[in-house]
Amino acid sequence: MATDCLFRDDSYLQTCDARVVGLTDQGAIVLDRTVFYATSGGQPGDTGALTTSDGARIPIETAIYTDAAKSEIAHVPAPGTLAPKIGDTITAAIDWDRRYARMRMHTALHLLSAALPYAVTGGSVGENESRLDFDIPEAGLDKDAITAKVAEMIASNAAVTSRWITDAELEANPGLVKTMSVKPPMGTGRVRLIEIAGLDLQPCGGTHVRATGEIGAVRITQIEKKGKQNRRVRLALV
Ligand SMILES: [Zn+2]
Repeated sequence: MATDCLFRDDSYLQTCDARVVGLTDQGAIVLDRTVFYATSGGQPGDTGALTTSDGARIPIETAIYTDAAKSEIAHVPAPGTLAPKIGDTITAAIDWDRRYARMRMHTALHLLSAALPYAVTGGSVGENESRLDFDIPEAGLDKDAITAKVAEMIASNAAVTSRWITDAELEANPGLVKTMSVKPPMGTGRVRLIEIAGLDLQPCGGTHVRATGEIGAVRITQIEKKGKQNRRVRLALV
């Protein structure tokens, strides 16, 4: 059953009431709706807890998609905790400090990809350090110069917005695809676009802050060579 992914419309939601609609073979809990972001796109699933109507607390270690289409989310409980029953009403709450750090980081990676306009070949979002891998044929990247560029974009406090666009709308607007830093996946019917006003536009399913100023200070900590055509750029919140 498809989960109503509340974090897609409001990444600032920390809790919600929900109903248990399934349990996976591994004991993960499927809800009809959730605030838990599920692991994808280099961003880890949220941690937190589910609290049953009689007050029992089920710690959640991560959230994952159960299907390739990313429509259903299962919440993975800590080992040895009790399992709720199908039909139970629970309150879902995420570890907000950790998620908010990831939102700041994730948004900072969009700015990094705007500061370094090369093809991105990989990436990872962590609350302490994040990274993007770029397809860059030659070295010569300067940590301080990139840090300064990203800092300027953060200081501009540009608005971060999301919108859904259908495949048909995309086909009717080839110019839109041209302005995107990452080509959108086609064939799923619709694509979620994240726009950082004047700075970046790309398809993305992750969680972001509302304006770049919320990211705060960041620093490029390391640039590594990963093969002939690849540079790994690491970034940390200061
Ligand atoms: Zn994103």
